[in-house]
Amino acid sequence: MEDNRVKITIHRGTHEIGGTCVQITAGDRSILLDAGAPLGQSTSLVDLARLDFSDLFISHPHQDHYGLIDSVAPHQTVHIGQMGRQLIDTTKIFLGGKPLDKAFSYLKNREWVVLNDSFKVMPYLMDHSCVDAFGFLVEVQGKKIYYSGDFRAHGRRDKAFKWFLADPPKEVDVLLMEGTMMGRDNHETPSEKAVEDKMLVVLREEPGACFLVSSGQHVDRLCAAFRACLRSGRTLVLDMYTAFVLRVVSRQMRSVPDINATDRIRVLVDGKTAGGHYERIKGNQEFFAGFVKDVFAKGTQIKLDELLAEPSKYLVKVSKPMRIIERLDRCSVIYSLWSGYLEEVENQELLHSPKVRFHEIHTSGHATRDDLKKFANAVKPKKLVAIHTEYPADYTKIFAGHIEPLADGQPLII
Ligand SMILES: [Zn+2]
Repeated sequence: MEDNRVKITIHRGTHEIGGTCVQITAGDRSILLDAGAPLGQSTSLVDLARLDFSDLFISHPHQDHYGLIDSVAPHQTVHIGQMGRQLIDTTKIFLGGKPLDKAFSYLKNREWVVLNDSFKVMPYLMDHSCVDAFGFLVEVQGKKIYYSGDFRAHGRRDKAFKWFLADPPKEVDVLLMEGTMMGRDNHETPSEKAVEDKMLVVLREEPGACFLVSSGQHVDRLCAAFRACLRSGRTLVLDMYTAFVLRVVSRQMRSVPDINATDRIRVLVDGKTAGGHYERIKGNQEFFAGFVKDVFAKGTQIKLDELLAEPSKYLVKVSKPMRIIERLDRCSVIYSLWSGYLEEVENQELLHSPKVRFHEIHTSGHATRDDLKKFANAVKPKKLVAIHTEYPADYTKIFAGHIEPLADGQPLII
C-alpha cells in the first residue's frame, strides 16, 4: 500500500478466547500485536513464518498471547515487559527448554515505541491476572487504533483501570476490545481482596493442612495467599518454580514477597517435583544466579517430614498436591482457577477425595460486561471490533456505537 491507508487483520481471535494475533500494516511497515497459541481447538491456523512483519508487541506473558514466539525470526524485534520476558523464560526452563534467544526491547508504561515517522505504539499498563499486562495504542498514518489486550478492573492494580478511564486515548478510529466475560457468569466477580478474605476463613477454620491450587504466575493470587497466611499465622510453602516467579517479580515490585525477605515463605526441597525443578535450575545456573543457595538456606527450605509433622501450620502451593494429601488424614483445598479447569483429572481427584474439604475461591482475570461498557464508553471509538471472545455477535446488544463485524483473516482498511 503506497497511500495512507492502514490495514488491520485479526488472523485469529475474532470468535475465540486465546490464540490472539493481530497484524497492522501501513506503507512498507507491518507489526503484530500478540502471537498466541490457541487455548482449545481452533479453526484458524496462524503461521508466523508466512507473515511479513518487523515487530511483535506482546501484551502479556500468557501462552494464548505469546505461544508462537519460537517462530519469530532473528531480524524481528519482540516488544514485551521485562518481567514478562523473564516469566516466559522461567516457564520454558521449568518445562525443560532454554531461555528465549530473540531481539527483545522492553516496554515501559505510556512511553512511545517509535517505529518510523508515521508509525508508533504506546503501551498502557493494565490490571490482569498476570504482571506486565498492556494494552496498545497504535498511531499510524494519522490514524489511531487501540488494542485492549486482556484486562480487568477488580484486581490489585485496579487503579490502572481508573487511570485509563480518567485519561483514555482520544479520537480512536478502531478499538479492538476483549470480551472474555461476554458469555460467562458476571455475578460472581469478587475483588482480589475479597479472595484473600475468603482464603483467610478457610485457613483459620481448617484444623489440618491447607493446599492452594492456582496458577504459579498469578502473582496477585500468590500475594493474596501470602497475606492470608500472615493473618492466620500459617506459613506459605511453595515449590521452587513458584518461589522463583516471586523472585522475578519482587525485583521490580516491592509489594511482592521474596523468600529472602520473609520467614513466612518456605520452599519444599524433597519429593519428585522438587527433584525435577532442582535439575532444571542446576542446568541453567546463570539464569537462576544465587537462587539455589537461597532455597536451601536454613529457615527457607522445608522437608516433607517437617510439613507432615505439623500440617496445620502450612498453606501449601505445589504442582502435585495429591502426592502429599495421600499421606494426610484430612485437609482443605482452596481451588483458585477458572471453574472450566475443574474437569481436568487432577482437579477431579481433589474434588472427590474423601480427605479433602474443597473450597472454590476465585475471581476472573477479565473485565465484567459493566466494566467493558465503561471502557468502550471512555474510548468512544469510531469502530468497535470484538476480539478474544466467544460471543462477538453480542457486542451489538451490549455496546453503543458502530460495531464492525470481522472474521479471522478478513482485513479492515481504514
Ligand atoms: Zn488471553
